[in-house]
Amino acid sequence: MYSGPGVKTSPDYPIPDTMKAWVLGNPSELKLAQKPVPVPKRAEVLVRIDAVAICATDLEIIDHGPPASIQGGMPFNKNFTPGHEYMGTVVALGPGVDEYRIGQRITVEIHAGCGQCKRCREGMYTACHNYGLNYGDVDKGHRANGFTTDGGFCEYQVNHINTLVAIPDAMSDEEATLVVTAGTAMYGLTELGGLVAGESVVVTGPGPIGLLGVAVAKALGASPVILTGTRDNRLKIGRELGADHVVNVRNEDAVEAVRRLNGGKGVDYVIECSGAPNAVNDAIRMVNRGGKVCLAAFPHQETPVDVAHIVRNNIYLYGIRGEGKTATHRAEAFMSQKRFDATKIHTHTFPLDDLPTAIRYAKDRVDDAIKVVVKAKGVAAHRVAAE
Ligand SMILES: [Zn+2]
Ligand SMILES: [Zn+2]
Repeated sequence: MYSGPGVKTSPDYPIPDTMKAWVLGNPSELKLAQKPVPVPKRAEVLVRIDAVAICATDLEIIDHGPPASIQGGMPFNKNFTPGHEYMGTVVALGPGVDEYRIGQRITVEIHAGCGQCKRCREGMYTACHNYGLNYGDVDKGHRANGFTTDGGFCEYQVNHINTLVAIPDAMSDEEATLVVTAGTAMYGLTELGGLVAGESVVVTGPGPIGLLGVAVAKALGASPVILTGTRDNRLKIGRELGADHVVNVRNEDAVEAVRRLNGGKGVDYVIECSGAPNAVNDAIRMVNRGGKVCLAAFPHQETPVDVAHIVRNNIYLYGIRGEGKTATHRAEAFMSQKRFDATKIHTHTFPLDDLPTAIRYAKDRVDDAIKVVVKAKGVAAHRVAAE
């Protein structure tokens, strides 16, 4: 029978001893296995995972390894379960937990920092100095589920209470998986200064973070908000999420178009979500003097950057990782107040057993897939009707 020292459970939510879990073998190789259901420790809960979204970073980890770090190294053949954008129901409480109750629906953010390093103490727990140090004699208590500890492509997972975000009944499981994506956009805008009402913002790259970056910037009052990208179907969704202007960079020069759309001057902020090879050089020419650029995408190669232009023009560059400073809570507030409809980027749902198909849809953008969600409880594969 499922139990652990000081762990509270409820007969309303029976918990099995073992669960279905996808595990990473060699690069690109996922296998469905049985694992013990994990047991929460102090300040942790057990979450029954009701839905999990696939992120581009999951695809990176499954094929290449980083930014996952398991037992101080690559994540392959270590019985590691990836997946990090999940939501679910609290079904067991670890010792001392009274902040959440059994049966409560929550979504999660990813990074539970160690809580004791300099950055964690500043709220920058996604930049925890003990990242990945959560094993053996070096255990610092750090968790980043799906990156340094087991993640969400399974039926149950343990989460620190600091990573939980309560959600209202009216928010669907699928929408709740998108809180962390909106939270990443919110963290980017937080690091840029946060007060963007009436300020001009460009978002480059209409992936999930870019599209929700448009929505969050608009909800914060930015004006105008300009989205650049290469796919008209995604730019159209950007407009629906609040972009005042969209620029297809296949048809016109992105820097010239941005300057034209903002009265000849550059914009105040750029959020770079494309990871394109020349994205940084474009971004520093889209901002005006003294402007700020947030880098939220991982490019694959090192790229030369025009540092002299940055210095001469007093431009600020910020790299952000994930969703620090409780940005997910602010994003969830916008979503539960219906300030924007994040579900516009959710396109497909598959059962957990079909994870490889779901991953193929996300990776190859089959049928114009954007956010693909996987659900453990009996669902048939379906495409969500556009709008
Ligand atoms: Zn992600
Ligand atoms: Zn830390």
